[in-house]
Amino acid sequence: MLLDVTTLFAVSICITALLGLFLLMLWAQDRSVDALGWWGAAYLLGGFAVALWMLGPSVLPAGVDQAAPALLFICCGMIWTGARKFYGRSALRLAAMTGALVWLMVVHLPAIAEWSMARVFLASVIISVYAFLTASELRRERRNSAQAGVRVVAVPLLHSTVFFTPILGMHFISDTGPDFGASSFALFVLLTLLYIVGSAFILVIMAKERSELLHKTAAVTDPLTGIYNRRGLLEAAQRLFAAQARKRQRITVLMFDLDHFKSINDRFGHEMGDEALRVFAQTAAGTMRSSDVLGRFGGEEFVAILPGGLDGAAVVAERVRAAFEIAGVTIGGHRMNATVSIGAASADAARADLQTLMTHADGALYRAKAKGRNRVEEAGEIEAAPISDVASEAAQAGTVAAGAKISSAPVLVTS
Ligand code: GH3
Ligand code: MG
Ligand code: MG
Repeated sequence: MLLDVTTLFAVSICITALLGLFLLMLWAQDRSVDALGWWGAAYLLGGFAVALWMLGPSVLPAGVDQAAPALLFICCGMIWTGARKFYGRSALRLAAMTGALVWLMVVHLPAIAEWSMARVFLASVIISVYAFLTASELRRERRNSAQAGVRVVAVPLLHSTVFFTPILGMHFISDTGPDFGASSFALFVLLTLLYIVGSAFILVIMAKERSELLHKTAAVTDPLTGIYNRRGLLEAAQRLFAAQARKRQRITVLMFDLDHFKSINDRFGHEMGDEALRVFAQTAAGTMRSSDVLGRFGGEEFVAILPGGLDGAAVVAERVRAAFEIAGVTIGGHRMNATVSIGAASADAARADLQTLMTHADGALYRAKAKGRNRVEEAGEIEAAPISDVASEAAQAGTVAAGAKISSAPVLVTS
């Protein structure tokens, strides 16, 4: 089979540009993953750059021939920027352009201009640096799966190959014109074409997984405070209950209710009320351990579930109360003196369920309000019967329906 390099290149250009458009369309449909936009634009620009390079100095004005590799290096920078964006980091635009700038500055120096291998070497260095930077970003992949590990290596490697191909081609044709005599180079271009398609698939899968994760996180997050919403709280609570029950250890529920919150809204406006809720969430989250579960149950009511007994939890509750007493003095520039009342209830995780503990914590919270607010009250020891098999299964499954009320038993969902 005779492989014509020029035809292969023309096909590669079209496929790369089409994949770029495809990635950009996916990004336009779901803007939650910015990286997809960067990667799509890089593919599109990459296709254009190779087309520009193929037209060659004979067709284009002098100087544009060096613009083609420069554009390819910008593509490398864009792929790297996409990887940074993928992990929520900022785009370093100047650094993404540096490879191209260095190339344009250096390539006209006589030593480089007259020696094509020097150009190939310089191009290799620039591409390798961006491949290394991209790999370093992708190493942030937290899941330690083998699949993720492969991606960390595969994506930058594939992209380096893709970007390196025209550079190598430049060497092949630099002195002899676009002859493409070497058939091994044709095979290399064909492989590159496969890599282009393969790496686009990997990028789409990565972006899709990320988008799903973002949507899942949004479904369990309270948009105002950034902590768990009721659904997330109940799901995390069930997981913690199941874990504590397995270890035959105690679990404690804290219920928080901001004091005189209606009056805060009335005096300072709803916006400032929202700000007070944010300050409370930050204060409480900053005061607790990462193993504790904290969520906004609704309105100005928050719930925390802590592994362990009442003694430790009471210390945490008092710390949150005291911290918010200080943080609540001035909020949003207004002297609010906002405070919180807290009710605590604890039990052996295997002998009580979330609903029972929340009911008892709510009773203790009611007493804290009655005794003058800005205080922590504890419920007495709960004499709960062992939880039923169904409730136990719910705890094992670790999921409850969104919107389950305190007064109703947790409901299993099928997901
Ligand atoms: P207490 O000390 O007895 O808890 O009194 P309170 O005023 O805090 O309790 P009450 O239940 O009477 O009022 C709660 C208020 O919280 C009423 C409601 O308008 C306000 N609220 C509920 N959700 C939000 C919210 O998302 N933002 C703001 N700004 N206010 C909210
Ligand atoms: Mg309330
Ligand atoms: Mg209140």
